[in-house]
Formats: sequence, C-alpha cells, structure tokens
Amino acid sequence: MTLLEIRGLGKRFGGLDAVKNVDLDVQEGQITAVIGPNGAGKSTLFNLIHGFYRPTAGTVSFNGRDITHSSPHNSVNGGIARTFQTTHLFDDSTLLENVLAGRIVRSKSNVFDAIFHTPRHRRESALNQDKALEALDFCGVAEFRHDLASNVPQEVQKRTAVAMALATEPELILLDEPAGGIPEEETTDFGNLIRSLPGRGVSVLLVEHKMSMIMGLADTILVLDHGQKLAIGSPAEIQSNPDVIRAYLGS
Ligand code: ADP
Ligand code: MG
Repeated sequence: MTLLEIRGLGKRFGGLDAVKNVDLDVQEGQITAVIGPNGAGKSTLFNLIHGFYRPTAGTVSFNGRDITHSSPHNSVNGGIARTFQTTHLFDDSTLLENVLAGRIVRSKSNVFDAIFHTPRHRRESALNQDKALEALDFCGVAEFRHDLASNVPQEVQKRTAVAMALATEPELILLDEPAGGIPEEETTDFGNLIRSLPGRGVSVLLVEHKMSMIMGLADTILVLDHGQKLAIGSPAEIQSNPDVIRAYLGS
C-alpha cells in the first residue's frame, strides 16, 4: 500500500528551484532512500513533506489524505515524525526528558489538567514515561536515559533523535542523515536499528550520504540532482544506472 504519495512537488527560493517536479511513492513497510549531491534538494524535500516549508507546486498525500498544506504539528499528529540533519536535542536535559518533550506534541491534557494534576494528567504522564522509555530502549540507549544530552557520544545522541521521533508513535519517519558524524565502524549497528523500524510498523524515508549503508538498507532509492528526479529504483538498478554514475563521478 502507498503510504505517502508525492506528485509534481516543487519549491522555489527566489530564482532557484530547490525541488522541481518530484514524484515519489513511499510504500508501507518499506525503507525508501533519497540520495544526491550536496544541494540536490534532499532536506528541502523533507521540509516540504513535513510541512515546514510550503510547496510552490504539487501535492503530498499521506494515507490518501491531502497534507500539502499541513503544519508540522499536524503532520506529527497525523503520523509523520522526523529527525533533522543537525541533531536538535536539549543539551541541558537528560535523554529521557528529551524524548518526553517529543511526546508533548501528542498531549491531550491541557493547562488545567497540568496545574490541578487531574487523573487524566497523571494517566497521561505515566503513559508518556512508558512510551519514552520504550523508545529509548528500542534504540539501544536506555542505559543513558539519565545522562545529559551534551554528555553522551554522538552516536547515542543520534539514536536518541530517532527515539524522540519514535515516541510520537509515527507511521512514517523521515530521517535526514541519521548516521551523519557517526564513525564508519558504528554505521552497521545504526543501519540495523533503521532496518528494524518497519517491523514495528514504522515505514522509513531516509536521506543518507553513507552509500554502503544505503545500498544495504533501502528497498527503493530516489536520486535527486539539482532538485529533480534523476533516477528511481532498487539499489542494484541505481548502482548500474549510467545517469547516476555520471552525476556522481562528474564525467
Ligand atoms: P541537500 O539537503 O540535498 O544538500 P537542500 O535541500 O538543503 O539540499 O538545498 C537545496 C538547494 O536549495 C540549495 O541550493 C540550497 O542552497 C537551497 N536552499 C535550501 N533552503 C533554502 C532556503 N531556506 N532559502 C534559500 N535557499 C535555500
Ligand atoms: Mg541536506
């Protein structure tokens, strides 16, 4: 089943087409990757999907619902979560507090509930705590839950960013260079974490520069170049595509 359907998507910044006429289907239960040289439009594409930018052309639907003009807040509540190219953790908070902050967006209790510690608020706090811990555990960093984000290694921070997104219980997760800055020898483990996401009902759309990781992970790869689709296909198809080889080798 198609989870995310992108048609003719475009974003202009002044005279520049950062994303132009992009079509993409993200299938449920799959890992879909977006690759392309620096400045190809990968992060802009994510910002369009997530509602952080308004597209200048085209449509985005999620589960058959038009979300072209949804705000990021609505996207999260609607089942799309994301991580950012540069990790956005609160340095002076613990990993657990960071992941809890990610769940607040789904909160149903209001200020009244919080001030008066209503049963609803207490129930929700306990549930948030459970979900946050479960997400940290799933991402392999539960043992660091009481450490400040600024005190843990880069890889633990990156895993926590994934946990933060997972704690919102998304159907689709957008990962923008989730393994960026992680030493090469640790990327296999990180790849295994990403590979395990569809098994818990979370489909993945991923931007990553580490080609060996992408090729072993993705079901489908979209190659962007200057904002446009250069190719789409399986890892084997992409690796043998002459246009892709030309774009990457610059010949
Ligand atoms: P990638 O993530 O593939 O490296 P980006 O999506 O960040 O590429 O950028 C695509 C192009 O759009 C680049 O030329 C970049 O300079 C430009 N761009 C991205 N965001 C903005 C913005 N907010 N304002 C103006 N130009 C932007
Ligand atoms: Mg980028």
